[in-house]
Amino acid sequence: MKKNFVRAVFPGSFDPITNGHLDVVSRGVKLFDELIIAVGRSPIKEPLFTPQERVDIIAELIKDMPRVSVESFEGLTVKYVKQRKADVILRGLRSLTDVQYEFQLAMTNRSVAGVETVFIMTSEQYGFTSSTLIREVASLGGDISRLVPKIVYARIQQKLKK
Ligand code: ADP
Repeated sequence: MKKNFVRAVFPGSFDPITNGHLDVVSRGVKLFDELIIAVGRSPIKEPLFTPQERVDIIAELIKDMPRVSVESFEGLTVKYVKQRKADVILRGLRSLTDVQYEFQLAMTNRSVAGVETVFIMTSEQYGFTSSTLIREVASLGGDISRLVPKIVYARIQQKLKK
């Protein structure tokens, strides 16, 4: 039976959130009643922002989106999804390379916890945008201003000055 109210969780590292992620959020919000952006603590070798900083940045970016919220979580994504009484996991797809990994992840989440995953393909212009590359290019002085929202760009510049 179709549910009347669908809550989705969009989990990720979001270190930092990019225009590609935001594109998925703005498309996702049209499909679900509520969307929670969930900042995981997955170990990144050299993180740029702390989970709290990532949450603060995202909160600023979504402040005018009524049905979208952000929080951080620890541990297994599916446990968090159940705890928040969410119905689906939302993930973004950029390329065939993503599909392979995401397919495996989605199958695992479904078989261990019965949680379904919904995928949204990003707009072509963000198909090559990745947080990992943004961290690398920015730390080497490259211009990433077109790939991230203005406030993320400013926060990265601040971070790198330190
Ligand atoms: P994770 O470490 O869990 O992969 P990310 O923050 O890198 O976290 O990505 C979260 C989700 O957003 C993943 O589904 C990823 O494929 C997707 N994603 C990342 N970058 C983009 C982009 N440019 N366009 C669309 N989806 C993206």
